Amino acid sequence: MRRPIPTVVDDVLVGLGLVLLSIAGALWVSPPGPVPTASANAPTGDGGWKPLIDGDPPIAWPCNADLDVAINLARVPEAQRLQLVDDIDASLEHITAGSPYRLRRTYDLAVIPTEDTLADVAAAAGAEIVIAVDDLTQPDATDLLSPGAYGTGGLYYRGPHAYAGWVLLDVSALAGLTPGSGPRSHQALIIHELLHALGVGHTQHPTSIMQPALQSNTGLLADVDIAALARLNLLVCQK
Ligand SMILES: [Zn+2]
Repeated sequence: MRRPIPTVVDDVLVGLGLVLLSIAGALWVSPPGPVPTASANAPTGDGGWKPLIDGDPPIAWPCNADLDVAINLARVPEAQRLQLVDDIDASLEHITAGSPYRLRRTYDLAVIPTEDTLADVAAAAGAEIVIAVDDLTQPDATDLLSPGAYGTGGLYYRGPHAYAGWVLLDVSALAGLTPGSGPRSHQALIIHELLHALGVGHTQHPTSIMQPALQSNTGLLADVDIAALARLNLLVCQK
């Protein structure tokens, strides 16, 4: 089943570890204005990068984090599963090569996380980030993925640090995208959602993979995205 060309990749969900921050986080909308305070050493030319969750520093993973990624592709047709694993691995390698973070696929998950269980599922898997594909036509589909979205990505946090991130993709939406890399590809979607799980928000910069519209990006990290990831990490490292 093919979907019409979407106007947006996802709806970005932000999971919250602190009740007091939940209202601000849930209503977070990209504010106009300068990037958060950074040192003179911060990379420049980040194209108007915005953190997914603002703060001083913005919410992010610990400085130079090693991040294990557990996956659940049980709802992907078996004939397409190996290709999708390849696309996930390529996406993790691409982000690792272009960022201060090292992302490594570890174990397969037996369950698909929900908003309530994500942190427990990730902890039980010994992973920081979970990638799962669900089928929104099923009655027990995860509430982390909204109808009409190709995917979603986000993170839970305590204080300034993320502790569980997720990427949830819709199996029928994947069927309307091209396996591999390039515009409107599986890797384009996965990389975009993983950057949300790392704490990067949307931007309108014309070359960024973090434009809200999937058809607008090349499927690879642009220089502005690489600069944004470096800046996000630097702000945490300096605190
Ligand atoms: Zn997005």
